[in-house]
Amino acid sequence: MIPQPIFLNEWAVTIILILGASVGSFLNLVIYRLPVILRRQNHDMTSPDIKWSRFNLAIPRSHCIACKRNLTFLELIPILSWLAIKGKCKSCQCKISPRYPLVEILTALLTLSIIYIFGIQLKTGAILIFSWSLLALAFIDWETKFLPDQITLPLLWIGLLTNVAGTITSLPSAVIGAILGYGFLWLIYWLYKIIVKTEGMGYGDFKLLAAIGAWLGWQALPITILLSATSALLFAIIGLIRGTINRGDSIPYGPFLAFSALICLVGYDIGLKELILIG
Ligand SMILES: [Zn+2]
Repeated sequence: MIPQPIFLNEWAVTIILILGASVGSFLNLVIYRLPVILRRQNHDMTSPDIKWSRFNLAIPRSHCIACKRNLTFLELIPILSWLAIKGKCKSCQCKISPRYPLVEILTALLTLSIIYIFGIQLKTGAILIFSWSLLALAFIDWETKFLPDQITLPLLWIGLLTNVAGTITSLPSAVIGAILGYGFLWLIYWLYKIIVKTEGMGYGDFKLLAAIGAWLGWQALPITILLSATSALLFAIIGLIRGTINRGDSIPYGPFLAFSALICLVGYDIGLKELILIG
């Protein structure tokens, strides 16, 4: 069934955008800190964050990565603070990654689109958790070429749990989606390894596609795989032509999977479902 987009007045839109940008700010924290926390757990102390004896999502306070100065309250305001300081730390003048405002803007727009399409209901809450997790995973993989189990595995279980009541898709479709999602990329991985004798992707990619299958059902897998593979290939070709990517470089597949799943999620309930099943 195609949901009827709900009417949101300008106040509702403003509040949703502010809340969305604040969630984006939290995602930025996870994107930067989770890989550091995992490195520290593996006793890899090459990280610049060795200075702190405790390092988790709450401790230490938000700081400049280069000079370690604690950020002021005004510097914590999403998007605007980055624009106000023109992307440079006030103290050490180091560049602050444009990833910070980008994630905040993307999260705000994604949150607004999802609430607009799916309305204010419990299902929307679940879909928001799924989409925010995909955004965080996309950027972590982009920056570290690694998809942490700490996000992919809970995402898989929560997806199956959400669909116990058939919230987004039926439970059989979710279970088959999880198995086929993992199995398909696992098969590609081994075929590639046997034929080309190198690893084409990582286990994190299998788990991510399994989670996508668990949330959206097996019907969404063909289009997610097609979209992600095509966009990754296009990205690689353009990079090779422009010289920003060299032969033999590896590019992370997670961001392409995550963004294709988001397109599928938004398109799924507004007509793509028929397209996927007929096509
Ligand atoms: Zn600084």
